[in-house]
Order: sequence, then C-alpha cells, then structure tokens
Amino acid sequence: MKQFKTESKRILDLMINSIYTNKEIFLRELISNASDAIDKLKFISLTDSSASQDFKITISLDKENKVMTIEDNGIGMTDKDLEKNLGTIAESGTLAFKKENSDKTENELIGQFGVGFYSAFMVADKIVVYSKAHGSDLAYKWESKGAEGYSIEQADKSQTGTKIEIYLKDDTEDYKYSDFLDEYKITSLIKQYSDYIRYPIEMMMPTTKMKEGSSPEKPEYEQVFEKQILNSMVPLWKKPKAQVTSDNLNEFYQNEFHDYQAPLKSIYAKIEGSVTYDTLLFVPQKALYDYFSKDYKKGVKLYCNGVMIMEKCEELIPDYFGFVKGIVDSSDLSLNISREILQQDRQVKAIATSLEKKILAELKKMMEDDKASYQKLFAEFGLSIKFGVYAGFGMNKDKLKDLLMFYSSKKEQLVTLSEYVKDMQDGQEFIYYASGESYEKIGSLPNIEKLKNKGYEVLYFKDGVDEFVAKILLDYEGKKFKSVAEQDFSVDSQDEKQELESKEKENKQLLDDITEMLKDKVKQVKLTSNFKNYPVALSASGDVSIEMEKVFSSLPNQGQKVKAEKVLEISLEHGILDRLKNVQEDKEKLKKYATVLYEQARLLAGLDIENPTEFVKAFSDII
Ligand code: ADP
Repeated sequence: MKQFKTESKRILDLMINSIYTNKEIFLRELISNASDAIDKLKFISLTDSSASQDFKITISLDKENKVMTIEDNGIGMTDKDLEKNLGTIAESGTLAFKKENSDKTENELIGQFGVGFYSAFMVADKIVVYSKAHGSDLAYKWESKGAEGYSIEQADKSQTGTKIEIYLKDDTEDYKYSDFLDEYKITSLIKQYSDYIRYPIEMMMPTTKMKEGSSPEKPEYEQVFEKQILNSMVPLWKKPKAQVTSDNLNEFYQNEFHDYQAPLKSIYAKIEGSVTYDTLLFVPQKALYDYFSKDYKKGVKLYCNGVMIMEKCEELIPDYFGFVKGIVDSSDLSLNISREILQQDRQVKAIATSLEKKILAELKKMMEDDKASYQKLFAEFGLSIKFGVYAGFGMNKDKLKDLLMFYSSKKEQLVTLSEYVKDMQDGQEFIYYASGESYEKIGSLPNIEKLKNKGYEVLYFKDGVDEFVAKILLDYEGKKFKSVAEQDFSVDSQDEKQELESKEKENKQLLDDITEMLKDKVKQVKLTSNFKNYPVALSASGDVSIEMEKVFSSLPNQGQKVKAEKVLEISLEHGILDRLKNVQEDKEKLKKYATVLYEQARLLAGLDIENPTEFVKAFSDII
C-alpha cells in the first residue's frame, strides 16, 4: 500500500469525516471529470479513427452491495496517471493549505480542495477505480479506503475509459447515504447539476410494464429496467438566451469550474460579425488560492462547433482579465489547431480582440448598474487590472483607466477616478493620494491631516503597484496625480504661504544647522504649516517616493540601492519649533533633538528606525 502525502492525508481526513451538507456535489464532480475525459478522447478521435466510438457516461446502482458505479469511455488513465492524479493533491494546493487552513470553515476548505475526485470520500468508505488509457494495452485498478493510503495494480478491463466504484457509507442518523442508490434521487441530481453535459448520461430506470401474456381485461404488471438518458445534452451556450436563467448559469459555472460558490458575474453572449462565436464568461466571487501566484494559468475553454479543443486557451484572455473564466465556441476555427499555430491564427486573434472588448464593456456596465458588486470584484481582482495599466510601459492604460478604483478618505470605500474628479473642490488642481501599508496606517499619516482639514478627498494607495500606476497614468481627465508625500506638496493659501516663507527666513540658521547635522540622512529640512498633530513628517524630493523606496527595498539585489531623497518637515503649529529654538545654541543637544525627530519621522512614514543605538541614546539623554 502506498501512502498519501501528509497534507493530502489531512485533506482526505477532512473529506471522510466531513459534515459538509452538500455531499451530493461529489456526483457532479465525477460526472464532469468523466465528461472532460471524453472531451479529450473525442478530440483525439478527430484525427485517429480508432478512438471514435459512441461516447457516453453510465451510472449503475447496486443496491445489494451498496455500490454506485460511474463509468465513462473517455481517455482513461495509465498507472502513472493514476499515481499522479489520484495519489497526490497538487503541491501548490498543499502549500496554501498549510498556510491558510487555520481560520477556514469546513465549507471553505472543501470549496478549495474538495471539489474534485476526492469529494467522493464524503459519501464512500472505499473507492475503486478501473482505468484503461487510450492507446494502452494494459488496464489498472486503483483502490483506497481513504487516509491510510492507496494501491495500484494491474487489472482486467477491455474498454478504454474509466470506471469508478463508490462503496457507500452506512446510513447514519444524520445522513442517508443509501439515497444515492435510488434511481429517482440520481435522476434529479443529474437534472440539477449535470443537465448540460454534452454526452449522454445513461442509467437503467425501473418502470412498470404489463406482463407479457396477461390479458387487457385482467392486466398483470411487472417491474422492468429500461435504459434512459438522464440529461438534456444541449450545451448551455447553444440554448436561446431567453431560455437561460441565472440559476442555469450559476449551476453551469460551478459544474464546469469546480467552484462551490456562484459566480459574482455571468456574461452570456452570442457574437456575430467579423468573427462568430458563442461565449459564457464568469467572474468568480473569490480569487483561487493560487490566483496571484505564478502557478496560476489563465484562459478559457475553447470549443470548435461543440468539440472541446483546448482546456485553457491563454491567447484569448489578456493577463489583466486573467480572473475571467469561461468557454468560447466558434465554428470559425479549424479543428486541428495546435498550440503553435494558435498564437498566429487570425481567427483566434479576432476572437481575443472581440472578447476583450466584451469584457471591458460588461465591467463598465457593471460598475454603473451594480456598483457594490463591482467594488467587490475590484477588491478581489483589482490588482490584476492595476498591473495591466502599468505593464508594457502603459500600453493598455487608456482602455483600463476607467476600471480602476481606489479607496477614498472621504467616502470610505472604493471610488473610480472619474468619481474622484467629479467631486473635486473648486480650484482643486490635483488628484491627491497617499501611500502606505494599510488604509488605517495611511489614514494616520501626518500629511493626510492637512488635506482633511481643508476638506480635500485623498485616495489611499495600499498596493505596491499603485504609485507606479499613478506615475504611468500621469493624469486623469487632465488632473495630475499628486502624492501628499511629495516635497513640494502644499495646500496652503497665499497668506499661509507668505507666513511660512517669513518663518523660514526667521529660522534659517536653525534649519541650516539641522540640515547640516542630518546631512547623510536628509536632503533638506524645512517648515510646514497646517499640521499640528505631529512634530515632524518625512517627504521626498525627486522621482523616488518613500513608498517606492519601500517597494524597491523589498526586491532582491538591486532594489536596496534605490533610495528616496528625504525632506524632514517640521511643524509650525506643533510647538516643537520653540523647543528647538531653546536649544539652538547647545549644538550637542540640538543634534540629539534632530536625531530623535528624524527617526520619529521615519516611523510615521512607515520606515524602520535607521540607527537604533543612536536613537535610543539621544532619546534617553533628552528625557
Ligand atoms: P480536477 O478535475 O479538478 O483536476 P480531480 O481530483 O477531480 O481534479 O481529478 C484529478 C485528475 O484526475 C483530473 O485532472 C484528470 O486528469 C484525472 N481524472 C479524474 N477522473 C478521470 C476520468 N474519469 N478519466 C480520466 N481522467 C480522470
């Protein structure tokens, strides 16, 4: 017997002991696996006549032995496939599992990992898989009773495909597993979850028939079993739009993309024009655990006239819409299209262009008609769109900029740039933004205070990429972006400016002295007004902001060298200025004050203390 990997074992344990209410979804999962397997063989059969046959999925119920069997004549699995597909759970999955399992509910966990073959362990205490791969002479049997492990051995099976025997658990007070042996229950589950599977799902159904030889006057009946097809087999995207309900779309999405939640947004479109295709597109509620990792593969399922030719066609979806899932079916494509020609194929390019336009239009519409949902979408996937604006030196920025959202200091929710600009104050020149690690931290940044006092709205930039987005956009509707951390940042009135200038003149010697004392650390020391909660703030002159310095310093190698040119700003209103004046003549003391203030300003800006020993010494000397 072979062992499952430790983490796989934990996930299996979870399945086996699951109290998940939706146990029945295992059927949907196994049926869609069967359908996928047939899709794969059907594709091969286009060029290999030995592979073509009457494709179907067969369900049989053995009430006596409490075994449900699901059989397909799809592509099948070799012993290696069995080992790889059913012996381990994807590495990326287990990593995420380790990190994230602590605060998840059972539902969420099963949503993340359980949907798939293993979900059958929610209803079974033993599963046996017989499989024979297309083109192989040998068949194999995989068997497992759950967490202890599994075995693989050679077996007899004449037909290509996979047969899965599910040995159902005994009924308990809480759950009637034997329901899965009831033909009517199965029929209704298939109708509910798998109606649009394009291959027939067959089962022997009991019916009552008049006994042969019995007379019509005195009829005698008997129960016989007849083969029935349980699903309608019409793919959803081939149905007229008027017949497709949002429930249908939700079921289809969950079925096809193994999600336990309904999608946040569904798009159903039949496009006719320079290219003709049908498409179903979905935005999930939640990003998958690997969405922002390099393991994630974007793409839509590509069909040509109802035949699936590719599971994930990346070429059809731009990176910034990588979160969109769905299917595209076009009769304009050639069936034997390969990965290599795909990239240059004119039709594929035309579909990609059209699809992107469609997604853009739908997202904009969503933003207008259902803002709350769009905000949810942006909170989940906005990072992709922001990277899209920034990528390729901003080559896509114009089409994406209207989709952007940032958190607003005033409205305390995500707003679009267009909303921001519309609500700008009379005479407001700039789109103000402030960067930091979290909304909370940004909200307490010293410079925010000035803007809030003057009634300005500030956009909070929480993601590393945000400032780069602002830099690449330059402006929005003619309004330039301005960081509150920029050195020339000012919202002062004319009078206040004059007052500040005269104070700077008055204190020139003091400021020069401090500048000299901090010359390795800051480029300039100056006064600032409209700012009384804190004694000091740190801003940056030049192109690199303090937030960008943080992003760079988190990069390996080169990043460490990129530093912002810092400016120490001293508050006019706080009272610290008088304290500094008092010690102006005692240079040693002044140096200590300068050191403490500088390190405080770093802390407020979200940077670490630069020189802890110097800071602690200076600080304790002063107090
Ligand atoms: P998923 O379907 O999400 O990839 P599963 O755990 O359901 O995850 O299945 C793992 C893999 O096992 C599938 O990707 C597929 O390669 C293989 N597999 C499962 N069921 C079948 C089947 N009926 N025929 C052929 N291969 C299958």
